[in-house]
Amino acid sequence: MAIRNIREVGDKVLNKVAKEIKDVDRKLLTLIDDMLDTMYDASGVGLAAPQVGILKRLVVIDVSEEGNEPIILINPEIIEIDGEQIGDEGCLSVPGKVGTVSRPNFVKVKALNEKMEEFTMEGTGLLARAFCHEIDHLDGKLYVDQTIGELRDVAVTEEVQ
Ligand code: ZN
Repeated sequence: MAIRNIREVGDKVLNKVAKEIKDVDRKLLTLIDDMLDTMYDASGVGLAAPQVGILKRLVVIDVSEEGNEPIILINPEIIEIDGEQIGDEGCLSVPGKVGTVSRPNFVKVKALNEKMEEFTMEGTGLLARAFCHEIDHLDGKLYVDQTIGELRDVAVTEEVQ
């Protein structure tokens, strides 16, 4: 188990476009394990590789209450969206803040698993929001540039990505 240092807003790595992953080697499997450990340790519901300083198209998400349903997405792409949800969003790279963001309420993604096999996954509500938020990180985008109104301070962030 290894916790990686989470980069915070202002760090240029968060604004760069991450590169496609061509193969899964031991180093990448270690990165996946470390990202899961780092996300759970920080009580987040998602983490993208650029947030730990690695410019690769890799995302981990877990929106379950117990934190025991990890989703690993390699080279994820959004292939379908529907509806709209307007709600608060936070980010492990922007500690102590939340902001209101409009996202689709339904999102279907296509990605590769750790065996480089393609699969699709559908999400609504928080999972749809997490898909959008994390995939934005791979394109160097942060939610703070998409908020409706101002960022707000929070004492305790319930849902951080
Ligand atoms: Zn984030």
